[in-house]
Amino acid sequence: MHPNRKPLIAANWKMNDPPVGCYTSDSPFRSLPGVDVWVFLPFIEWYGAHNAGLVYGAQCGRPEPQGAFTGDISMLMLKHQHFHAVLCGHSDRRHFHQESDAFIAEQATAALEVGLIPIVCIGETEAEHDAGKTTDVLKRQLKPVIDVLTAHHSLPTTHFILAYEPVWAISRGDPNKPAATAKDAQDIHARIRSLLPKDRQATTRILYGGSMKGSNAAELLAQPDIDGGLVGGASLKLEDFRKIVEAAESR
Ligand code: PEP
Repeated sequence: MHPNRKPLIAANWKMNDPPVGCYTSDSPFRSLPGVDVWVFLPFIEWYGAHNAGLVYGAQCGRPEPQGAFTGDISMLMLKHQHFHAVLCGHSDRRHFHQESDAFIAEQATAALEVGLIPIVCIGETEAEHDAGKTTDVLKRQLKPVIDVLTAHHSLPTTHFILAYEPVWAISRGDPNKPAATAKDAQDIHARIRSLLPKDRQATTRILYGGSMKGSNAAELLAQPDIDGGLVGGASLKLEDFRKIVEAAESR
């Protein structure tokens, strides 16, 4: 495994209160020597995370540096408040905010230009999956992102991350929702890797998201092309999240 692909477990708290205990000294939201742990929090939580010394990111960001965009926060503002990374194109944003592939690429560009690490989220819906359109959808979602990478060809590979999140496997609060099987997830991750520019294929981190939890993390994270997880529901349960981080550490 290339050293640039250190496992990363990214917690996505979405629009939820942070779990009790997340800011303590033995919080599982702290990186370990062999695993990066980052928390994608509701904006108003940044100060708590900052004081606790966590590495934190935003769940979205607007490309323009400032202006008449009521309710939004720009990539530049995030950078000023010490955010480390930003999710671009999470399926919730694609669905509830109609974010397009082109706009997501604009966000990734703006993030890179202010020094934030974009985690670009891609993945097919259940209908697309059932219709056998997964590869077509991933190619469509990746195309503008690859253009961004081509325009930033000297960007270190650690400064750009992808997350494959099959929308049909995202729990949305259902703890019994099955994740993709480790084999299927591995196959898709390998396919995504093969679609990246040649000089980035071996070095780009690709996270899996969609009902990763303590009970299935080890199997998913053992796959050669899965470099970590983007974790929603299980990131709200301290001990379940700890198991995921431990699985990544002993990978
Ligand atoms: C997500 O929405 O990013 C996600 C992966 O959620 P969950 O882990 O709950 O499926």
